[in-house]
Amino acid sequence: MQYVLVSSCLLGNPVRYDGRGVPVDHPVLARWRAEGRVVSVCPEVAGGMPIPRPPAEIEPGADAAAVLAGRARVVAVNGEDVTAPFVQGAGMALDAARRQGIRVAVLKQGSPSCGSAYVYDGRFQGQRQPGQGVTAALLREAGLQVFSEQQWDEAQACLLALEDAGEP
Ligand code: SF4
Repeated sequence: MQYVLVSSCLLGNPVRYDGRGVPVDHPVLARWRAEGRVVSVCPEVAGGMPIPRPPAEIEPGADAAAVLAGRARVVAVNGEDVTAPFVQGAGMALDAARRQGIRVAVLKQGSPSCGSAYVYDGRFQGQRQPGQGVTAALLREAGLQVFSEQQWDEAQACLLALEDAGEP
């Protein structure tokens, strides 16, 4: 059976920067949970960030690939450089995926760790820009398919295709 990596906050766990979760009620997720497929991950907490914590964004003009390459930072709204825990947490998410042979992840959109289609522009003004978070980028680099909480059906189709193709 293929396991799926899912952002912990989407499972309702209160791990976000604001001390809250964002629980999702979707039949695909309910089915995965009943099947025992879900592996929960919060890269920021895994990397050592506290709950709650100041919101953070990838610095203006940079992207997740630059952060992973050591050429850009993730910065909290109070000016603290939080690059190290973000990168460490991404690595721990990848380790978890590798341990279980995971090929599919569903991560919280917009997060500087978990975003897969957009993130915020680094100026803390609520301005979105196309891009991905540090963990999403690292998982994609490693060949995982990364979806957001707007794409449960697409993620399920991907999972079924992998299982049909004989992936363990
Ligand atoms: Fe959710 Fe990801 Fe942020 Fe953790 S790092 S709270 S899993 S969006």
